[in-house]
Amino acid sequence: MFIPKPVSRLLYSAAVFCLFAVFTHVPATAAEPAEPFSGWLEKLRLEAVGQGISPEFLDLALTGLKPIKRVVELDRRQPEFTLTFWRYLNNAINDKRIRRGQEMLARHGKLLKKIEGKYGVPPRFIAAFWGLETNYGQYTGVFPVIGAVATLAHDGRRGSFFRSQLMAALKIMSRGDVNHRVKGSWAGAMGNFQFIPTTYKDFAVDGDGDGKRDMWNSYPDMFASAANYLSRSGWRRGWTWGREVRLPKGFKLELTGLGVRKPLSSWRALGVQRMDGKSLPDLAEEASIVLPAGYNGPAFLVYKNFRTILTWNRSILYAVAVGHLADRLVGAPPFKSKRPSVEVPLSRNDIKDMQRLLTARGFDTGGSDGVAGPQTRSAIRAYQKKSLLPADGYPNMGLLERLRIKTR
Ligand code: CA
Repeated sequence: MFIPKPVSRLLYSAAVFCLFAVFTHVPATAAEPAEPFSGWLEKLRLEAVGQGISPEFLDLALTGLKPIKRVVELDRRQPEFTLTFWRYLNNAINDKRIRRGQEMLARHGKLLKKIEGKYGVPPRFIAAFWGLETNYGQYTGVFPVIGAVATLAHDGRRGSFFRSQLMAALKIMSRGDVNHRVKGSWAGAMGNFQFIPTTYKDFAVDGDGDGKRDMWNSYPDMFASAANYLSRSGWRRGWTWGREVRLPKGFKLELTGLGVRKPLSSWRALGVQRMDGKSLPDLAEEASIVLPAGYNGPAFLVYKNFRTILTWNRSILYAVAVGHLADRLVGAPPFKSKRPSVEVPLSRNDIKDMQRLLTARGFDTGGSDGVAGPQTRSAIRAYQKKSLLPADGYPNMGLLERLRIKTR
């Protein structure tokens, strides 16, 4: 759900552990916790009372609380390899997940239609988020939310972020939305749609009118909450997310990326086509073209709602997966582009190396943290342009080898 800039939503996904070039690295600012947990907790309790949370509830929720070692381990864990587009997609979307999603759409169709009427988000998208976040409620997490979030708030590496998560969780629980012993992901993401506590506090909705916002057990609550979040993040009623497209020969790659927006009519005039060879509609609606696997991979024309999906999770791969799963749930075929026979994933050290080499050649990547974020991507693009390579900003092994050879 909505995360302040330095922390990626990806950290919260219980179902899909993936890191990719769009992942924004969390700066490791503070180091070890400065004080013992118990003293820290006592101060936190006072702050919570100051924010209007009842002492009786805090006694219930905080007494005997201990840090959870495993949570710190999981927070420190750095995946060794980035996932390629196709590997990500195949993890996220398979026949089983599509079938189950279709069952869910059938079972909850009436309710989801009603929610679409109110919030403008079609049932297939709600189901797709649900499928990707928790496999339709199958994995909502095994860590006590208060304990997990308190551990990370005390830990210090991202202390202030998790401190506000903890306050939000205490508020949600003290007002009786959910029990204080409720479980979630290791980072405190909650319920069927894995809302982090601040998102839960601000966007969850009581869909069934019983006075509580229950994202675990109430379908009206959880679906309305997801729809409300999307609607308030700018979801455009009556529109979809985007589509796979075919780019004409010689298409200028500097026109790709979310930084370039053009009306559909302009893309049509530039020769961008639907995969079936039909022309795009002659409309003023703005769209961008993204190439999540580089210029050799599939191209997607994406609309405003794609950007709304990115407020939920800032990964381009996640957003494509949500859109595609939504379409597959209502019978759309798989993407027409084919997975290449060889895909070489880059390790963190590969990306670090690439960042170092680019920076040494005057293309500033803003440090070498092993994560290909936006600045690294634009450095790659600038390097490619200067070297007369297809400027897609995509980090791959070929590019790294080229940089290594040229530097020797
Ligand atoms: Ca309710």
